[in-house]
Amino acid sequence: TAEAGRDFIRDIVQADLSSHKHNRIVTRFPPEPNGYLHIGHAKSIALNFGIAREFGGQCNLRFDDTNPTKEEQEYIDSIQADVHWLGYDWGNNLFYASDYFERLYDWAEGLIKAGYAYVDDQSQEEIRTSRGTLTEPGKNSPFRDRSVDENLDLFRRMKAGEFSNGARVLRARIDMAAGNINLRDPVLYRILHAHHPRTGDKWSIYPSYDYAHGQSDAIEGITHSICTLEFEDHRPLYEWLLDKLPVPSKPRQYEMARLNLTYTLLSKRVLTQLVRDGHVSGWDDPRMPTIAGLKRRGVPPAAVREFIKRIGVAKANSVVDVGMLEFCIREELNRTALRRMAVLRPLKVVIENYPEGQVEEIEAINHPDNPEAGTRKIAFGRELYIERDDFMENPPKKFFRLSPGTEVRLRYAYFIKCTGVIKDAAGEVVELRATYDPATKGGNAPDGRKVKATMHWLPAAQSKPAEIRIYNQLFANPSPNAADFAADLNPQSLEVLSDARVEPAIAEGNSPDPMQFERQGYFVRDADSRPDKLVFNRTIGLRDTFAK
Ligand code: ATP
Ligand code: MG
Ligand code: MG
Repeated sequence: TAEAGRDFIRDIVQADLSSHKHNRIVTRFPPEPNGYLHIGHAKSIALNFGIAREFGGQCNLRFDDTNPTKEEQEYIDSIQADVHWLGYDWGNNLFYASDYFERLYDWAEGLIKAGYAYVDDQSQEEIRTSRGTLTEPGKNSPFRDRSVDENLDLFRRMKAGEFSNGARVLRARIDMAAGNINLRDPVLYRILHAHHPRTGDKWSIYPSYDYAHGQSDAIEGITHSICTLEFEDHRPLYEWLLDKLPVPSKPRQYEMARLNLTYTLLSKRVLTQLVRDGHVSGWDDPRMPTIAGLKRRGVPPAAVREFIKRIGVAKANSVVDVGMLEFCIREELNRTALRRMAVLRPLKVVIENYPEGQVEEIEAINHPDNPEAGTRKIAFGRELYIERDDFMENPPKKFFRLSPGTEVRLRYAYFIKCTGVIKDAAGEVVELRATYDPATKGGNAPDGRKVKATMHWLPAAQSKPAEIRIYNQLFANPSPNAADFAADLNPQSLEVLSDARVEPAIAEGNSPDPMQFERQGYFVRDADSRPDKLVFNRTIGLRDTFAK
């Protein structure tokens, strides 16, 4: 919980500027294009781009595209769109780690020549088991003491594509007994005969994350390289490589807590699996914690930014209550969303004393706190729809909405009183009969009598049919198990209401902005919506209903 501009990373940046350690700050957001961005990435985006903006520096968007088997152009495109949607811009500073492949390779030869790297013929499995454990030192590879000439020859032949995938790797030659396992001769290059979206078939070896990342930072003149806490143990390796290589600058790595959210899994592996296995309709399914999913759901980018600001930047991992994100979404939408009426589960009401064929226009306000948002007209006539849940034939004591004999207010319109109930053969209520009091137009009775409920409604003829999709948490478990996430999925995460009705103003307008459907929550037109088949997503309900 930091106020804007005050967290330990911004403090470091400020101190480095004040001391003239740096005169200009350069940060970067370095996604691997192997999936869509999620709200955890938004934390990193807001921090890196935010720092650049606040301190007059620069933030690069760098694609960490070093693993061609998992990376796709679709992800590169979506990542750019999502960063823009969040309200950040990299200007001309768009980079790809693959642009540095040549230089990284030359530097690797330099490491070999200096005796700091060797080609290892052990299998991946042998390398893993000989690496040791926290309590046991690792064992030197039998290939560790190869001559520089042999290493160079083998590495060049790896590059030339002479060997099959996995046959050899290039390892840094550091210390197999180091307390930090990351320093036990980490892999720098693997053989991978794979087509790369940008470098094509030029390379049959690809650099590891640890080798590519810090050197890319150095090439770009990054001053503060911010990553998540899992990389704290990689920092000594990050620094070792910068120390041994002729890099043009010496960035420093800082670690912050990852964002974790209740009821949510923020792992690209899991999110990819959810899409591939069809548990969701795609990366932009409104139940997904992806930026694309939040966008489709109707979450305003300002709400995401406010959420990120509120959670702050800490140095210890924690789990944030998803209710906090929902709070930020409600706050923003309450302020900005126009009010409309929609009936999710319609029940017809015939106003028996309202003249047949007559229609009048009722004026409704668009935003209670913003008179400039203006008003609109809604037709009122003899046949209306009300919400099915707003009627009970045999109500319990505290039920103040409509029931036989009771009187309620229809929002902006009149008092009505229920005079009859019509049922189908199965005994289900299919229609109500009512009377209205013409003297209550606008919602108040001249004789001063009160009603206890104000209900939303729509005219039967003029309202439009719509499908409304209600989303609940994708996972039923507050801390879903990433290893077996399918078991924790919420079977009620999507509820489709196919007989809903919406105001003509909603149907006719083509606004992509979320609206408040009065008494129901916030809704937005879905990408699937067509003029002849309207579809709306519920962004969020009006109140926190699930966490109680
Ligand atoms: P995953 O672990 O889901 O695969 P990742 O960290 O590997 O995600 P990248 O594309 O490498 O995904 O992430 C780009 C940047 O976003 C990195 O700097 C990473 O630290 C940051 N990031 C990723 N997830 C989170 C998160 N949950 N909270 C904060 N920052 C994150
Ligand atoms: Mg990563
Ligand atoms: Mg990862």
